[in-house]
Amino acid sequence: MLVVKVGGANGNDVDNVLIDLAPRKDYVLVHGGSKEVDSLAEALGRPPKFLTSPSGVVSRYTDERTMEIFTMALPGKLNTEIVARLQSLGAKAIGLSGADGGLLVGRRKEAVRSVDNGRVLLVKDDHSGTVDTVNAELLHVLLGAGYVPVISPPAMTAQGELINADADRVAAMVAVAVKAEALLLFTNVPGLLREPSDPGTLIPEVPREKLDQFMDFAYGRMKKKLFAAKEALDGGVPKVVIASSQLTDPVERALSGQGTVLT
Ligand code: ADP
Repeated sequence: MLVVKVGGANGNDVDNVLIDLAPRKDYVLVHGGSKEVDSLAEALGRPPKFLTSPSGVVSRYTDERTMEIFTMALPGKLNTEIVARLQSLGAKAIGLSGADGGLLVGRRKEAVRSVDNGRVLLVKDDHSGTVDTVNAELLHVLLGAGYVPVISPPAMTAQGELINADADRVAAMVAVAVKAEALLLFTNVPGLLREPSDPGTLIPEVPREKLDQFMDFAYGRMKKKLFAAKEALDGGVPKVVIASSQLTDPVERALSGQGTVLT
C-alpha cells in the first residue's frame, strides 16, 4: 500500500501523478491545494495571510471566513476535479474530506504563536489544528471494494468544527494508519535541496537519525514535509520520498529513489 500526497502550490503538475496512479489500485491519495485556496480567497476579496511560528514554520491564517473558503476550494472544487480526472483515467476514485465518515478527527489549536516584526503574537481566532485519529477502517472498506480514496483537508473536531490540517501531515497520519510501505510527497521541487533556489543541490538520502540536522536546510513549508516524514517514519512507515511532480512517471521515479529518500 502506498500513500501519495500531491502538493497544491504553484508549479505542481498534479496530472502527471494522476496518470501514473490511475492503473494502480493499492494507494490512497491525499492532496493539498494552497494555490486554489489563494485564488478563491482573492476572488472573494479576502487575500490570503500567513503566520510564521517562532521555529520558522509558515501556515495559512485561517479565520472563520477563510475556513469556509478553504472548504469550498478543497473538498468542494479541487477534490471533485481530481476524482473526476481519475475516473476518466479508468480509476474507481472516491473523494473524502476529513469529515466524511469521521475520517480525520483532531483538535483545534487554542492559540497559535506567530512572529510579526520580531514580536511573538498569540493568534486566537485561527481554525487550524492537528489530526489525532484516522478512520483506517473506512479506508480499508473502500479499498476492499476496489475504490481508491482521494482525501482532502479539512479535518474535524469531535464537536464537528472543521479544522485546517496540513495535508503533508495528514498524509503522514494516513500512511501510519494504513501501514503503508511508503509515503510519497510530491511537490514543485526535486526534493529537499541544500540551497532551496538551486535544483542541482538535491539531498538524495536522509536517514532518520540525521533528520533533525537536515531540518536546518528547510525553510517555510518544506519544514512541514520534514515533520511529516518524521511522523511517518516514527509511526512505522519504512520509507518516505519527497519528489517532484513535474516529471512524467513521478510515482515510478520516486519508488526507484529519485528525490529525497528518508528511511
Ligand atoms: P506543495 O504545495 O507542493 O506541498 P510547498 O510550497 O508547501 O509545496 O513546499 C515546497 C516549497 O518549499 C518549495 O517550492 C520551496 O520554495 C520551499 N523550500 C524551502 N526550503 C526548501 C529546501 N531546502 N528544499 C526544497 N524546497 C524548499
